[in-house]
Amino acid sequence: MLTNVPSFDRIGEENAFAVLARATELTRQGRDIINLGIGQPDFPTPPHIVEAAVKALRDGHHGYTPATGLLPLREAVAADLHRRHAVEVSPERVMIVPGGKVTMFMAILMFGEPGAEILYPDPGFPIYRSMIEFTGATPVPTPIREANGFAVSAEDILGLITPRTRLLIVNSPANPTGGVTPAAEIDRLVAGLARHPQVAVMSDEIYGQMTYDGLQHRSLLSYPELRDRLILLDGWSKTYAMTGWRLGYGVWPDGLYDKARKLVVNSFSCTNAPTQFAGMAALEGPQDAVARMMDSFDARRRLVTDGLNALPGVSAQTPKGAFYAFPNIAATGWRSKPLARALLEDAGVATIGGPDFGIHGEGYLRLSYANSADNIRLALDRIAAFLARAMPPTGKASD
Ligand code: PLP
Repeated sequence: MLTNVPSFDRIGEENAFAVLARATELTRQGRDIINLGIGQPDFPTPPHIVEAAVKALRDGHHGYTPATGLLPLREAVAADLHRRHAVEVSPERVMIVPGGKVTMFMAILMFGEPGAEILYPDPGFPIYRSMIEFTGATPVPTPIREANGFAVSAEDILGLITPRTRLLIVNSPANPTGGVTPAAEIDRLVAGLARHPQVAVMSDEIYGQMTYDGLQHRSLLSYPELRDRLILLDGWSKTYAMTGWRLGYGVWPDGLYDKARKLVVNSFSCTNAPTQFAGMAALEGPQDAVARMMDSFDARRRLVTDGLNALPGVSAQTPKGAFYAFPNIAATGWRSKPLARALLEDAGVATIGGPDFGIHGEGYLRLSYANSADNIRLALDRIAAFLARAMPPTGKASD
């Protein structure tokens, strides 16, 4: 049959988009839904960034750009990485792409094939596993544990590496847990990786500027010994509230950069030109809007954590980064996905069940606090009322 393409039986999705669609549908039906499901800042893109794109269009930037991105933008990325991490990055190693996701797509496509093993965080961003399975490679989850503050464990990762391991994916600050891996643990991981020179590393640092309490994110870029096998994933979506613009970048090592360029040429040709001008304005313009957004996230982070911990059967660590809380709900008697479903359908609060981020996500929910303080308070009230009135389903749940 024409529609029978077996490799597509293995590709997954992001349930956050399905929850968003359902929440939108319920709203359309007249229901009052508070969306704590979707992972995007609820702030508008700062006006000077929007203006830069409008100006680019007015100035006639309507054509293709170089496949790897405009040189001034790649230079701005290199300067930004130097400012943030005190590292030298050549603009010739920066690949501009439409969104953070594209770099992971290309990296996993490059290394994934039957027989290869790829390590990825679980719970973690669902596209890692989906793409690994799509390539026919073996996905090897590296558990991200609450008991470890949702940090990456160097010991766990190093213990899972085999001669077949081709790629290691790490993510800090992390989705969905809000965990941030301490610098000392990253030191241990990098030291251990010296024994496994066949393993490439993709570090997803899209939340790198979103940490709290003065905590500093340690970039894997800051380890010279790793640079010839490190792919850095970053972008504008979260830091500058630009999810819909589709703008991200990868920093690729010498030997892989041209392969990535060929994937660009074979797929989208180049990233949208005015969006690239917006990206330049974001990096080179004032950063006060980013600071204001983070202050606001910080206040909501405390609000959501305190509120969750006041709920019967729920306990939540204070997130150290990103804008997600990942409460443990096991003691409510509910399993994660039925609870997330019931909260949406019965209580009008959209959240995501932990298992949508991997097998180690059972017993947790992800709440995005990219919503107003008033809505967060109201959502917590609704969850409290729901837990007080509804009993967990009995019998063996199917999910
Ligand atoms: N990496 C992580 C960990 C994310 O959470 C996300 C988005 O939610 C992405 C990458 C993708 O970002 P983008 O929207 O720029 O493709």
